[in-house]
Formats: sequence, structure tokens, C-alpha cells
Amino acid sequence: MSIFDSHCHLYWNADDNSIESQIEAAENAGVSRFVCVGTNADTSMKSLNIAKQYSQVVASVGIHPNDVPDIAELSNDLQQISDLAKQHAWHAIGETGLDFFHKRGEPLAQEQSFLHHLDLAKELSLPVIIHCREAATELVTLLEKRNEPVCGVMHCFSEGPEFVQRLLDIGLHFSFAGNITYPKSDLIRESASLIPADKLLIETDAPFLAPQPMRGKKNQSAYIVHTLDVVASSRNVTANDIRRQIFDNSIKLFNL
Ligand SMILES: [Zn+2]
Repeated sequence: MSIFDSHCHLYWNADDNSIESQIEAAENAGVSRFVCVGTNADTSMKSLNIAKQYSQVVASVGIHPNDVPDIAELSNDLQQISDLAKQHAWHAIGETGLDFFHKRGEPLAQEQSFLHHLDLAKELSLPVIIHCREAATELVTLLEKRNEPVCGVMHCFSEGPEFVQRLLDIGLHFSFAGNITYPKSDLIRESASLIPADKLLIETDAPFLAPQPMRGKKNQSAYIVHTLDVVASSRNVTANDIRRQIFDNSIKLFNL
């Protein structure tokens, strides 16, 4: 059994659960591959160090939209990310994107940072991991204005069907997280039913967004099986029917 957790933050769980025990629990649940995602220079390096220790893990480098500094300091931080990106072996750029829900990171700085990450990903031929919260219209508009295909993934996709086709036209993949299992998430389940099979990924975003049966707990990669089940049922198939395809999509996207 092979499941690929395309987005987790193993370093934020490490106080309660050692990296080793998280990976072991995940492997017992059938999860054999992980992308450990950076949110700033520090957590990107933590991800890289985990990837050096565990061959099942690959790492990404980037600045989360809520971690972007004020415009005045932005170019310094972006230069640092570019330097890191060129110095080490990464498998993705991100997470980057737009987040207007949390009141951290001014919108203009987030936009500039996002565009920088897109350029960097293109330059290094790496997929980009895109975060989007309460900013879908702005984000899609920005990508459409840029007017070139983007290799990457909309992580924790939480939008309704109205954005699916526009993001497909840009070339993006879609990764679904634990929030697709919540009772009120009909629109996310509808979106999941519309994604072409070769564009579909799953993730935990651990330690956030534990799936329904585990809700209230700190999320971990082992819990991804509940997300897989709901993605499958949204598409009227079984988890067995789509697990391999989702795994292969991830292997291909992250150049493994
Ligand atoms: Zn994340």
C-alpha cells in the first residue's frame, strides 16, 4: 500500500511526537512518502535536514504568505530564499501564495513574494506549492494575468467548483486535506469530484486540519487515510481505485 502525503510540517509535531515515531505511525498506515514543507528560511532548513535523515521525505523551500515581512524587508528575505533554493537539493518551491484570512503579511508584500516564488520555481524547474485562503479571486486573477502555465499544486484546496476549471487551465494540480472530511465541506467534495484523475493529490497539512474522526487532535500523516476515503467517495470510487494514481501523480510532480 502506498500513500503519498504531499504536504506536512513534520517539524511542528516534533515536541509531542518524534519525527521517527510520526514516520513510523504513518508507514503503519500505508504512507510511504512525504513532502515536508517550509514556511520561512528556518522551517525550510528544518525540512531539508529531515529529508537528509529520512529517504522517504523530500523538502520544499519558501515563505508562507503570513510569514512575509513588511515591504521594506521583503527583498532581503526573498534573496535569502533564492540563495537557499540554489544551494540545496529541494523538490518544490513553497509554500507561497495569498492568505487574507489571517491579518499577517500585507497584501502587496504577499503578492510580490508569490510572484517571486513563481519565477524561482520556473527558473529551477521545480513545482510550486500554493497556499490560498480567502484570496481565491485575487490569486486566480494574478495567475491569469501572468499568462503562463504553472507547474505546481493548490495545496489544501478549499474552494468550490467555480475556481477548478480556471486553475486547471493554468496547469495546476489539486491537493485535498483533512477539511474535505468535515460535514459542512460539500463544496470541497464537489470540487474533488471534478478534478481529472491525473491532477489529484492528497495531504495532511499536519499538524493542522485533522480529519473528522480525529478532529480536535494534532494532525499527523498517519491520519491521511480518512482524507483518501472521502476524496474517493466524492468521486464514487473506492480508496483502492485511486490510491495508486494519486501516488504516481505525486511522484511525477515532485520529480521523484
Ligand atoms: Zn502548510
